[in-house]
Amino acid sequence: RTEAEVKKHEISNLTLEFKRGGPKQLPIASHFTDEKDFSIGKPRLVILGSGWGAVSLIKELEKDKYHVTVISPQNYFLFTPLLPSATVGTLEARSLLEPIRGIIKHICAHYLEARATDVCFDEKLVEVSTGPDGDSFYVPYDKLVIAVGSKSITHGIEGIEHCHFLKTINDARAIRKTIMDNIEKASLPTTSSEERKRLLSFVVCGGGPTGVEFAAELYDFLTEDVVKYQFPTVLRKEVQVSIIQGSDHILNTYDKKISDFAEKKFKRDNINVITNARVQKVKEDHIIYKKKNEDEERELKYGLCLWSTGIAMSSLTKKISEKLPEQKNMRALVTDNRLRLMGIPDSSVYAIGDCSTVKNPKLVENLMKFFTDADVDNSGALSYAEFQAMAKKISRKYPITADHLKKANILFATYDKNKSGTLELDELHAMLDDIDKRLTSLPATAQVAHQQGKYLAKKLNKLALERSTAIFPSSTDYSVDGAEKENPDMDDRLEPFNYAHLGSLAYIGNSAVADFGTGYTWTGGWSAVYLWRSIYFSEQVSLRTRVLLALDWTKGSIFGRDISKF
Ligand code: FAD
Repeated sequence: RTEAEVKKHEISNLTLEFKRGGPKQLPIASHFTDEKDFSIGKPRLVILGSGWGAVSLIKELEKDKYHVTVISPQNYFLFTPLLPSATVGTLEARSLLEPIRGIIKHICAHYLEARATDVCFDEKLVEVSTGPDGDSFYVPYDKLVIAVGSKSITHGIEGIEHCHFLKTINDARAIRKTIMDNIEKASLPTTSSEERKRLLSFVVCGGGPTGVEFAAELYDFLTEDVVKYQFPTVLRKEVQVSIIQGSDHILNTYDKKISDFAEKKFKRDNINVITNARVQKVKEDHIIYKKKNEDEERELKYGLCLWSTGIAMSSLTKKISEKLPEQKNMRALVTDNRLRLMGIPDSSVYAIGDCSTVKNPKLVENLMKFFTDADVDNSGALSYAEFQAMAKKISRKYPITADHLKKANILFATYDKNKSGTLELDELHAMLDDIDKRLTSLPATAQVAHQQGKYLAKKLNKLALERSTAIFPSSTDYSVDGAEKENPDMDDRLEPFNYAHLGSLAYIGNSAVADFGTGYTWTGGWSAVYLWRSIYFSEQVSLRTRVLLALDWTKGSIFGRDISKF
C-alpha cells in the first residue's frame, strides 16, 4: 500500500464512517480498518460474544481470510469452569480473565465493547447498543456467528431477585463480598443468636455441577481458612451449607456412582443435601420449599442464597427465535448439523455454544433402511462386524459422536439384551432412539461450545480458501454481498459437526470426580484434585492465565485464602 493509503486507513480507524440505514434508520458502521488490515475486501465476519464458543472460533481462524469484527459487552474471555473458585478467593478473579483484544490480535480483528440487540437478516445488519444510555448503530455482515451464551433460568420463582447467580465475574465478586459481610456481621456482639444463625446459613438452589462446586469451595473456605483466624468459636459451630435439589440425587447428569460418592462426601462434611425438593418462593431472608409428595411447605433461613438451576435464552436469542418461523417455541436457536441457523437460506448465519442446539435428521426414521442395508447375510440380526460397518456409514451422514464410534463394542454389548452376539431390530431401535435423543440435545457446556467454535473456524477457513481459489478469484467481490454470491452447496460438502464427549469433571471439596461416559468414572482425593487442576491448567487460553493460576494455587497452599473484605 502507498503511504497515503495507510494514512487514510489510520484515520478511518479513528473516525468511523457512518451512513444511515436499516429498518430503524440507525447509523451503519461501515469502516473498521487500520494499517495492518489486509482483510479489506474480504467477507465481513461478525462474531457476537467473547466466551467459549467465540474464542475457540477466533483462535482457529486464519489471518486475512475475513474482515472480522467481534462484538461483546465483556472485553475479556472468562474461564467459567473455575468461577466457583473465585467466590471464596481460592483463585483471584483476574486469573480467570483474558483480554479479548489479545486473543483477536493474530487475525487483526476489531473489537467493539457493545451488546447486540437485534439482527436484521434481510439487510444483513446487526443492531448494536453501547449501553442503556449509550448509542445504537448497525454493523453489517456477510457472515454472522451468534455465540452469546445464555442466562440463568429462574422458572418464574417469586423473589428470585434476592438470590445470587454465578455466571459472570461480577457475580463471583458479589458472592465473595456477601460471604465476608455475613461472617463479619455474625461476629458482632450486637448480632442476636437467631440472626447469627441466619447469616451463617448458605443455601444453594440446584445440585448440578455449579451448585455442587460452589458448596464445596465454600465449605473448604469456612473449614480451612475462617477457622484459622480470630473468629468466635460459636460461629464455627453454627455455619451451615445446604443444597436443595429437585431430583433424587445431586450431580444427576453424572453416573450414579459419582452422585453417590459426592453425596457421601457431603454427608461426612455436614453439608445438608435436601433432595426431591422444589423451591416455591424466595423471601428476603428465607426460602420456602416443598418436598415431593408432601403438601406441607418448609422454610430455610439464609444469609446467602445461590440460584443455579440451569440456563435459559438471553433476550437477543429470544428475539431472534421469535422472528424466524423455524425457531418459534424452541428453548435455544436451532441449527442444522453444520451449525447454520435454521430459517436462514443462504448459510450466512451460524449459532454455537449455549445459545444454540443442533437439530439432527431423525436417525430412527431411517432405521429400517439402515438395518436392511447392514444385514448383509440376511439373517434378520446384525453381527458385530455388520453393526460396525453400519455405524461408520451412519456417522458420515449424521453427527453420531466419535465417542459412540470408539465405544461401538460397548454399545453393542449394552443393547444386545439377550446376549446372542447379534443385534436384533428392536435392540437396534432402542439404541438409536437413545443416541438420537442425546444428539438432539447436546449439553450446554464449555466443551461443546469449544468444539463447535473450532469446527466452525476450520469450516470458515476452508470456505474462504475454496472461494478465493476456485469460485471467486477476486476477493473484492465479497466486500458487500459476498455471502449471497456464495455457492450454497459449498457448506454442505464439508463434514457435519461431530461432538466428541471427553468427559465431565467436578470439584467436590479436596476431592474431584470425573465421568468419561458409558460407565467410565473416576473419583478420588488430592490426586483427583491435581488431575482436575492440571486439565483446566492445560485448557487455559494464554500463558499469562496459566502463570496466574499457578501463583494463586501456590499462594493458597502457603498462606490460605485471603479473607480481607474490599
Ligand atoms: P459464554 O461463554 O457464556 O459466552 C457468551 C458471550 O457472549 C460472553 O462473552 C457475553 O458477554 C457475550 N454476550 C452476551 N450477550 C451478548 C449480546 N447480546 N451481544 C454480544 N455479546 C453478548 N462447562 C464445562 O464444560 N465444564 C465446566 O466445568 C463448566 N463449569 C461451569 C461453571 C460455571 C460457574 C458456569 C457459569 C458455567 C460452567 N460451564 C462449564 C458451562 C460453560 O461455561 C458454558 O457452557 C460455556 O460458557 C458456553 O459458551 P458460550 O460461548 O456459548 O457462552
